[in-house]
Amino acid sequence: MTEVLISGASVAGTTLAYWLCQHGFSATVVERHPGLRPGGQAIDVRGPALGVLERMGLLAAAAELKTGIRGSSVVDRDGNELSRDTESTPTGGLIDNPDIELLRDDLVELLYEATLPRTEYLFGDSIAELDNRGELVEVTFESGASRSFDLVIGADGLHSNVRRLVFGPEERFIKRLGTYAAIFTVPNVLNLDHWQMWHYGDTTMAGVYSARNNSEARAMLGFMDTDLRVDYRDTEAQIAEVERRMAGDGWIRPQLLEYMRAAPDFYFDEMSQIVMDHWSIGRVALVGDAGYCCSPLSGQGTSVALLGAYLLAGELKAATQGEWIDHGSAFINYFKRFHAYIERTQFLATDNIPGGAPISQEQFDAIVHSITLPDY
Ligand SMILES: Cc1cc2nc3c(=O)[nH]c(=O)nc-3n(C[C@H](O)[C@H](O)[C@H](O)COP(=O)(O)OP(=O)(O)OC[C@H]3O[C@@H](n4cnc5c(N)ncnc54)[C@H](O)[C@@H]3O)c2cc1C
Repeated sequence: MTEVLISGASVAGTTLAYWLCQHGFSATVVERHPGLRPGGQAIDVRGPALGVLERMGLLAAAAELKTGIRGSSVVDRDGNELSRDTESTPTGGLIDNPDIELLRDDLVELLYEATLPRTEYLFGDSIAELDNRGELVEVTFESGASRSFDLVIGADGLHSNVRRLVFGPEERFIKRLGTYAAIFTVPNVLNLDHWQMWHYGDTTMAGVYSARNNSEARAMLGFMDTDLRVDYRDTEAQIAEVERRMAGDGWIRPQLLEYMRAAPDFYFDEMSQIVMDHWSIGRVALVGDAGYCCSPLSGQGTSVALLGAYLLAGELKAATQGEWIDHGSAFINYFKRFHAYIERTQFLATDNIPGGAPISQEQFDAIVHSITLPDY
């Protein structure tokens, strides 16, 4: 049986594990976090990615987890409502459409459950070194353990460890979009009822929306800066940067900043894309944000991870004959099927940047639907 090691247990990693096991491979997932990494805002699954969930038998369960957001208000710095919208939200696009908007961590939990018990998980560990030159990939973990696998797949996100080890430094592939966001859980202090509230300050924006049937809320604090560099591993520096930027911009920012310090799931990053002209070297390949992050600004990050994992697993199956796998052909076919779609999708984010030419809903839908799910 072909043994595959996947680095990263989020959307791409769990979906890939599911489909690999479904196709008769063995999947082991190593995740740096001690468990599934919590956090993130509401994300959308849309277009053909809904078909991936459907083929996994998870569509109804995902629909049950929908945020049910009814609309959004924009308020002034004292909290007075300036406008309200019940047709679209600043983060989620049109409200009344077939997309499924759910919390990122709820989706990951759902996908993870679907991989059990067939997938082996190694939580709290990471790949320290790998040797990709032979018939097997020799992997040494940070824990000190060593194992060999037929294939290794990096599903470890924007700052992928596998990409760094095998393809080279992040700086070669990252395209920074100059927008930063911090996202974290807060109590539903504004008593929002399936509602989002946003304030645009002089240099920053702040938003709060109710989550999990109003029992909690998620806050998002954002700002633009094309020159800033903050170490993505240095949480203290990130918190200090957000505090410094937000302090004078009014509304309930001081309260949100207090919650931010205590939040169990603080997440901060720059909106960026990963642009590569190949996603595999030897027996190692990339999937999801690790290989082609489109950025949250595209509205497609999660859908693309679901699609990419489905296609990669499918191409590996298609390249298998008995005990023999032509992994090289599988990786090339995965790239050929998906790369043009990624290029179109990445364009969505750059056109959505404040100040950029706005993309119409029709253009957005056409790009989202411009791929068909093959049967494997
Ligand atoms: C905590 C968090 C919050 C997010 N919030 C949002 C959001 O609010 N809006 C949005 O649009 N997108 C958000 N994203 C990104 C979004 O999840 C992805 O764009 C999309 O779902 C594609 O997922 P992915 O599985 O490719 O990557 P990711 O979801 O980024 O997952 C990567 C996984 O790899 C793990 N990992 C990282 N390094 C290593 C390592 N060295 N060894 C092993 N495992 C490692 C991470 O802990 C994580 O579980 C967030 C990601 C994370 C991790």
